[in-house]
Parts: sequence; structure tokens; C-alpha cells
Amino acid sequence: MLKNKTAVVTGGTRGIGFAIVKKYLENGANVAVAGSRQETVDKALAGLAEYEGRIMGIWPDLCAPDDVAKTFALVKERFGSLDILANNAGVSSRTSLYDYTLEEFTKIVDVNLKAVFVCSQAAARIMKEQGGGVIINTSSMVSQYGQPAGCGYPATKFAVDGMTKSLARELAKDKIRVNAVAPGVTNTDMVAALPKEMVERISAGIPLGRPGEPEDIANAYLYLASDLASYVTGSVLRVDGAAMT
Ligand code: NAD
Repeated sequence: MLKNKTAVVTGGTRGIGFAIVKKYLENGANVAVAGSRQETVDKALAGLAEYEGRIMGIWPDLCAPDDVAKTFALVKERFGSLDILANNAGVSSRTSLYDYTLEEFTKIVDVNLKAVFVCSQAAARIMKEQGGGVIINTSSMVSQYGQPAGCGYPATKFAVDGMTKSLARELAKDKIRVNAVAPGVTNTDMVAALPKEMVERISAGIPLGRPGEPEDIANAYLYLASDLASYVTGSVLRVDGAAMT
């Protein structure tokens, strides 16, 4: 489904991001796996040896426009194009408002929102020049429902929904589609860090009767990146087993 396409997947070293990387590779794409440090990227690439020649590792500072632009240019130089950007990197927090420090709030905003802006801008400049592309952002079901602590996380995901809808309208003329995937509770390190009772309580309320697996989410990223979604832009696609409805 993605033959001859090139994708950048941020936060591609583990969890949902790693599942997206594998899904894109299985479907013929070249993939640049973006992580925060070279060693975690190298570790992820070691598990993808069978795709040698179609993968590369990158570790730009996602909030630094020059670094990101330079790195995305290297991806284009290596594979000939940059067609898909999966803005997946994210950090969560459950800190109470009373204990939240400005540093923690700023970190959440930086990774979950500022990086989406910086990476989308750098990718869109390349995509516009080459005649089109696809940007897929990562929202969350809590963008719509909030959560009982850690207000910074749902606030940034709500902002990602807004950026998705705005960029879809702005970039349509350049043949760049922009959508978001809003996962529900998904079995990754992010969820492993939550209190067990909380995960059990949320899981019990999921109509489909189970939490999501990273591959469930990656399938939505495949659909939105592919030509099957050629008329889909500005959407926030829920992939949450109908949780919290
Ligand atoms: P995870 O913690 O397993 O992975 C997060 C990824 O983001 C890692 O690869 C990490 O290296 C990367 N990352 C974090 N900070 C970074 C930084 N400063 N620079 C570069 N990369 C950085 O989490 P996950 O569950 O796989 O989450 C992936 C995305 O899905 C996130 O945006 C998250 O908010 C979203 N999400 C997850 C769930 C869930 O239940 N797991 C639910 C809704 C949304």
C-alpha cells in the first residue's frame, strides 16, 4: 500500500511508534525512525534488520526547526522523497494541578505540541515542493474527555486536534492531507506507567472489551497514509473500542 513512499515516524523506537514503523515497512515504504537518542534508535533498528536498505535512524531535537529541517532534508536525499510524516512522539503525566511545575507543563507542551508544529512545518515545505504528502498527528481520547489529573496532556492533545483541522484546510491546496489518530488505552510503556487499578477500571468500561494493541493503532496510520484515504483530511479518527461513550 505504501510502495515507493518515504515516511518519518517520530517516537518510532517503541510502543505505538514502533508498530507504525513496522506496518509501514511491511507495506513497502522506506522509513526514517526518529527517536530522542542515537542509542535507542540503534536498538530499534537492530530489530528491523530484515528491512536494511529501506530504513534509517534519525534523532533531531524535535523542537529545533533548523535541526529538524536539516534532518528531514537528509531523509529526502537518502530516499528521494518525504511523503508521510507520523507525528507520534509524546509524553504523558498524571500530576495534580497543585503539584504541577512549569517545567513539567512546558515539557509536555514541547513534545506533544511544539514538536508537531516544528516537524509539520519542515515536512510540509518539502511536500509542497514535491507535489503533496500526508501528515498524521497523534491525538488521544482524552482530548475530548479530559482526565482527572495531569491537565497538560489532554490540553496538548486538544490543541493537536485543532492544529490538524487547521492545517488540513490550509495545506489542501498543496495536496497535503492532514489527519489525526486518537487512540484509547493502548498497551505500551505509557500505559504500564499508570496505576494498575486505573487501567483495569478504564479497560472494564471499553465496549469492545479490551485495551488497544499498538498494531490496532498502526492499522489506522496505514489507512490514513495510503491512497484509500485520498479524500480524507481534517479528521480525528478514534481508535478506542468506543471507550468513554
Ligand atoms: P511510549 O511512551 O511507549 O512512546 C513514546 C515515544 O515518544 C517514544 O518512542 C519516545 O522516545 C518518544 N519521545 C518522548 N519524548 C520525546 C522527545 N523529547 N523527543 C523525541 N521523542 C520523544 O508511548 P506510546 O503509548 O507508544 O505513545 C505514542 C503516542 O500515542 C503518544 O503521542 C501518546 O500521547 C499517544 N497515545 C497513547 C495512548 C496509550 O494508551 N498508550 C493513548 C492515547 C494516545
